[in-house]
Amino acid sequence: HDPIHIVGGGLAGSEAAWQIAEAGLPVVLHEMRPVRETEAHRTSDLAELVCSNSFRSDDAATNAVGVLHAEMRLAGSLIMRAADAHQVPAGGALAVDRDGFSARVTAEIEGHPRIEIRREEVAGLPPRDWGRTIVATGPLTAPMLAEGIRAETGADALAFFDAIAPIVHFDTVDMEKAWFQSRYDKVGPGGTGEDYVNCPMDREEYERFIAAILAGEKTSFKEWEGTPYFDGCLPIEVMAERGPETLRHGPMKPMGLTNRHRPEVKPYAVVQLRQDNALGTLYNMVGFQTKLKYAEQVRIFRTIPGLENAEFARLGGLHRNTYLDSPRLLDPVLRLKSRPDLRFAGQITGCEGYVESAAIGLLAGRFAAAEALGRMPAPPPATTAMGALLGHITGGHLSVEEEGGKRSFQPMNVNFGLFPPIEAPRVEGKRLRGKEKTVNRRQALSARALADCAAWLRGDVPDMPVATAAE
Ligand code: FAD
Repeated sequence: HDPIHIVGGGLAGSEAAWQIAEAGLPVVLHEMRPVRETEAHRTSDLAELVCSNSFRSDDAATNAVGVLHAEMRLAGSLIMRAADAHQVPAGGALAVDRDGFSARVTAEIEGHPRIEIRREEVAGLPPRDWGRTIVATGPLTAPMLAEGIRAETGADALAFFDAIAPIVHFDTVDMEKAWFQSRYDKVGPGGTGEDYVNCPMDREEYERFIAAILAGEKTSFKEWEGTPYFDGCLPIEVMAERGPETLRHGPMKPMGLTNRHRPEVKPYAVVQLRQDNALGTLYNMVGFQTKLKYAEQVRIFRTIPGLENAEFARLGGLHRNTYLDSPRLLDPVLRLKSRPDLRFAGQITGCEGYVESAAIGLLAGRFAAAEALGRMPAPPPATTAMGALLGHITGGHLSVEEEGGKRSFQPMNVNFGLFPPIEAPRVEGKRLRGKEKTVNRRQALSARALADCAAWLRGDVPDMPVATAAE
C-alpha cells in the first residue's frame, strides 16, 4: 500500500495517524514544528494542548462531551488512552498533565513501525501525487497552506476569524413573549414566512440594553487588534459605540415585524433568532457577534424579553480560527468535493475543542484507511456523539442563503442540541418535569448513543456502495 499522508500533528492529525497505522497501513505525518512555530504552540510535541489542560466533563451518562469520550475509547483512541494515563484530579472533568500527555502521544506515534514523521512545513495545497491525504492543520494553519486551500475552494470558503453570535436552546425561549415571523412575512426558499423567533423591546428596554452593552466587560483580542473587521461581522458593542441608534437600524431593526401577542404595540427594537440546525433545537441570535465576557453575555442577554431563562449552547466570541465552510465543501466522509483525494480533519472542519478535533481526526483516519482497503463504511449514525458532530460539519447544519448569502456555519462544541431528539421516558407512567425531565432525557440520549456507536463499530451498519468511494 502507498502511505496515507497527514499534514499537521495536532490532536486530529495524531489520532488519524494512529487509526490508520492500527488498520495496518503506512502513514507519513508532516508536522512543521519546531521548524516553524504557530502563535499558540510552545513545544515541538505532537498533540500539544495550547491552552487549558481539560478535556471537559467525563460523565458519559448525562453530558455530551462525556459521551464523546466514551465513544472514542470504544474506537481505540490514542488521544483518550494518553489522556486517561496522564489524568490529574479535576472533579468530574477529565484534566491531564499536559506535558505527560503530549509526550505520551509523541512517543507512541514515533514508536509506531508504520508511521514516519517528517518535521517540515507543507507550504501549499498537498500535491495530487501524494495520493490520499488528510489536512489537519488546525485553527492556526500556516499562511501558505491556507492560501492554497483558499485558492482551491473560493474566496468566501475559508474563514480566518470566528465572529460568533450566541446560540440558544430553543426549548428555553419563552414563546409567550417571543413569536415566529419572518420580516415582512417573506417566504424564502424552503421557508414558511415564520422562520425567525422575534423578541420585542420597548424604548426603555432598548436604551437600558444599549447602556448595558457599552458598560459590559469585554475580552481583549490583543494579537489581532487593529485587524479590520469583516463587513457584516461587526461586534454589537462596536456598533453600539457608533451611536445609540446603530443597532436599531442594524440587526435589531423592528421593521416588517408585528408582535403576535400584542399587535397594537409597535416594538421599538427586535432581537431575531434564526434556526441553526435542521432539527430546530438550536437558534442563533442574528447579528449578535460580540467580545463581551461570557458571564456578561448571559447576564445582559437574559434581559431580552423572551430570553429571561435562556440556556446557551454557545456564547459569542471573536478568535483567529481558520476553518472551512464544510457543509458546502465536504462530502459526508470529510472529502473535499472538488478534490476527493484530500480529506480534512480537526478544528479546520468547523468543530471546536480538543476532544471534538481528535474525534473528527479519528473518523477521518478510519474513513481513509477503509477506503485504501477498498471499503467505504457508512459514517457513524446521527444518534451517536461522533455522528452528531460529523452531521454538524458535513450537512446537519441549516444553510441560510436568503440572508444575502452570508455564511452561517459556525464552529461548535459537541452538545445534545445536535442529537436527534428523544422522548424522555415516563417513570411509573408519569411524564417528568423540570430538571428531572432534562436529566432523564440526557440519560436516554447518552444510552442510545453508546449502544448505536458499539453497533457501528461492530460493523452492524452496512457499508456504503463502493462506487461512492471511487475517486
Ligand atoms: P492543532 O492541535 O492546532 O494541530 C495542528 C497542527 O498542524 C499543529 O501542530 C501545527 O503546527 C501544524 N501545522 C499547521 N500548518 C501546517 C503546515 N502548513 N504544515 C505542517 N504542519 C502544519 N480547545 C479546547 O478544548 N480547550 C482550550 O482551552 C482551547 N484553547 C485554545 C486556545 C487557542 C489560542 C486556540 C487557537 C485554540 C484553542 N482551542 C481549545 C481549540 C482547539 O481545540 C485546539 O486548537 C485544538 O488543538 C485543535 O486541534 P487540531 O488538531 O485541529 O489542531
